[in-house]
Amino acid sequence: MKLTMIGSGYVGLVSGVCFSDFGHTVVCVDKDVRKIDMLEAGEVPIYEPGLDALMARNVAAGRLSFTTDLAAALEGADAVFIGVGTPTRRGDGHADLSYVYAAAEEIATMLTGYAVVVTKSTVPVGTNREVGRIIAATRPDISFDIASNPEFLREGAAIEDFMRPDRVVVGVESDRARAVMAEIYSPLSLRDAPIVYTDLESAEMIKYAANAFLATKITFINEIANLCEKVGADVQAVARGMGMDKRIGSKFLNSGPGYGGSCFPKDTNALARIGQEHAAPQRIVEQVIAINDARKRQMVDKVLELCGGSVNGKRIAVLGVTFKPNTDDMRDAPALTIVPALVGGGAEVHVVDPQGRREGEALLPNVHWQSDPYVAAEQADALVLLTEWNEFRALDLPRLARAMRTPAMADLRNVYSKDDADKAGMAYTSVGR
Ligand code: NAD
Repeated sequence: MKLTMIGSGYVGLVSGVCFSDFGHTVVCVDKDVRKIDMLEAGEVPIYEPGLDALMARNVAAGRLSFTTDLAAALEGADAVFIGVGTPTRRGDGHADLSYVYAAAEEIATMLTGYAVVVTKSTVPVGTNREVGRIIAATRPDISFDIASNPEFLREGAAIEDFMRPDRVVVGVESDRARAVMAEIYSPLSLRDAPIVYTDLESAEMIKYAANAFLATKITFINEIANLCEKVGADVQAVARGMGMDKRIGSKFLNSGPGYGGSCFPKDTNALARIGQEHAAPQRIVEQVIAINDARKRQMVDKVLELCGGSVNGKRIAVLGVTFKPNTDDMRDAPALTIVPALVGGGAEVHVVDPQGRREGEALLPNVHWQSDPYVAAEQADALVLLTEWNEFRALDLPRLARAMRTPAMADLRNVYSKDDADKAGMAYTSVGR
């Protein structure tokens, strides 16, 4: 199959690279000339483990290329994927669909023959139908189909998720489109990945419902963690005991500083908005959003308490600022609330993150970037573990304690134990324990 991928960001690039590895011929398109220049030079503009090698292999095999020229990329395409961003629209929480509809218009003017136009971006119910309407209105002469194919990959494990998904969701309305989609994903059937065929609206809903459910699960355990702190229970033991029940499952039961990232905050906001617009309010999701917002501020209070009520004039080392490990993505990371609050409270903040600096420098003004946790901890009054990168999971706590002015740690990911901290002579606070 010949495939065109519009948008070469986290989702478009990973999908394009993986589709080419399936054996398809893929052209990845982006409007960002800098991104395409980097890709053509063999450089990966994002940090995603394993992506560079897989990309190089498929470029060398002649199956994968990059361009800013959409018309050329569309020539002879069997399917065109829209993988552009759908950020939160300023002011009202709704998904901003301007990039998706702009892509649909461009496809409409440049398409030369039958193709399936597939929306991979996360989009509200009705968007795929509108994409179809835009193309049909612009080009009544051309035959095409639309398909909804929301993406479920996780940053940091994106290739594994794409290659071995729990399921692939495909919303289609014609047998022809279904056949094209089946052929595109046929390599996965060898790996027993089920393809869920459905109508367009259900496919669009599945993505939002799944993300909102996961965000709810995280928020649920965070509230349980608050209660554990009050009653002397250990949230990790509680989560383990809960998660062994197969009806519940152990994933997404790690309490922490609140969910962040490029998907959960914007998708929960969009779902709440869709619910309001259709007079079917999503009250649980609305609560989840409010609780998660408050959660980040609670984490600031935890650090303040650890520092005796104020961080003014204190030196604080923050370990990890990306929204989770193994990504450089800073979108809606809890660090974007917590770090500025510490700086605003008068602290001198030293930050270490294995991949976050490139994105983080502009987003976190007035902090000092360090490359080594032990250097960041020198003369510090508190250490805040915010993202559980592997690099921060086996720190020498006695060495850190010796380097600090006041040995104290707010372990917001429960990586260490009070015992570890006691042995190192460090004051310690964590979440839900
Ligand atoms: P991104 O911002 O990393 O990438 C989007 C890219 O699209 C950018 O490079 C931008 O320049 C390009 N673009 C925009 N308009 C274009 C146009 N008309 N022509 C060509 N290129 C264009 O976004 P992302 O994180 O990859 O997310 C894309 C979509 O996938 C969103 O809807 C998101 O919700 C969804 N999604 C993301 C993830 C994730 O983990 N990031 C997971 C599942 C689903």
